[in-house]
Amino acid sequence: MHDSGASSRDLIVENESLRSRMTYLLEQAERNHEIMCRHQAFDLEIVGSDSFPNLIGTIFRSLPAICELDIVTLSLVDEESDIHTVMHKLGVNFGDFPNLLFVETDTDLGFVPSRNELFTGPPKPMLGPYHTAAHQAFFPNPPAGLQSIALVPLLRNKRLIGSLNLGSVDANRFTPGMGTDFVEHMASIIAICLENVISNEMLKYIGLTDSLTGVYNRRYIDRRLLEEIGRARRQAYRISCMYIDIDHFKHVNDSVGHQGGDEVLREVAIRIKAELRLSDALGRFGGEEFVVLLIDADADSAAMVAQRIRASVSGTIFTLSNGVEVPVSVSIGVATLDDFERDHAIEGVAQALVAHADSALYKAKDAGRNCVVSFE
Ligand code: GH3
Ligand code: MG
Ligand code: MG
Repeated sequence: MHDSGASSRDLIVENESLRSRMTYLLEQAERNHEIMCRHQAFDLEIVGSDSFPNLIGTIFRSLPAICELDIVTLSLVDEESDIHTVMHKLGVNFGDFPNLLFVETDTDLGFVPSRNELFTGPPKPMLGPYHTAAHQAFFPNPPAGLQSIALVPLLRNKRLIGSLNLGSVDANRFTPGMGTDFVEHMASIIAICLENVISNEMLKYIGLTDSLTGVYNRRYIDRRLLEEIGRARRQAYRISCMYIDIDHFKHVNDSVGHQGGDEVLREVAIRIKAELRLSDALGRFGGEEFVVLLIDADADSAAMVAQRIRASVSGTIFTLSNGVEVPVSVSIGVATLDDFERDHAIEGVAQALVAHADSALYKAKDAGRNCVVSFE
């Protein structure tokens, strides 16, 4: 009697402990499932990112939340500053991404190749305590109380393209002996997405710019003009268009050679650009012709800008890299869209605007060159 009472109490205790253990395991499983779902959602989100700012925005916004981290930064290898330059030209505002860092070479990241007796492999993540002196470059704005970090190499085809830097105020979050499969998997997906998005942006950039002068090409200006006319109609502001042609450029080429001519083209682009606002768009339309879209500029202010460009080009003689001096001048035709021709298709209005600027340019050539003519 006494014995069976004790054993049934034992059973009850054991039962309770099993129950609570099961509840705990269930909670763990639910939690793991939830974490896995969050990671899957994150993977899907970054794989679907269609632009560089979109991708890094997602990484900085979502990763700290889903991995419960106190800081996430990203260091990218950018040897010739190509990534930085192209993203800047495509309008990325780096001020929005204080945790996006650039390094010049992969050795700046400080990873060492992994080694064992048999082979030298790609670098492995570095986990451990945070030391300001050693890790400041990876965390320029560390959160208060940052304790442990993981620096995870971003690899593409064994090439180190950057580092994903994770930090926590919990000292035990990242310790040297810890397994790294999980962060390595995450980094491999991020690396693929980064490489994809960066090459897409580079292609976009190459497709929209003129390789000789670095200004936009005709395709970009044509597209931009359609967008701007649509916007100008909605918001009722004026757009002006300038057609700029270098005077007697054949003589320039004849006297300084094609290379010298190319240098002149680059310098003309620089001088035009210096007179424009950030919102204006400059494109090379082929040969020695440039087109400028002036946003929110009426005929008078467009003519004024054109005069400034004309004066800037002919006012200071061009000195080529070999020291040879060449006088250069441009003729400019200006046209303005000030009634919005709302009942006409945008494409036709755009073509007419450029054609009007072109015909004003012809008049400027007829009038003796180095002058500005506005379309009447
Ligand atoms: P105008 O004052 O009437 O404009 O005379 P122009 O000599 O500038 O006129 P034209 O349009 O006949 O000549 C343009 C020249 O530009 C001809 C071509 O050899 C040269 N050119 C076109 N593209 C390039 C280029 O990419 N680089 C160089 N160096 N020259 C180019
Ligand atoms: Mg020409
Ligand atoms: Mg010309």
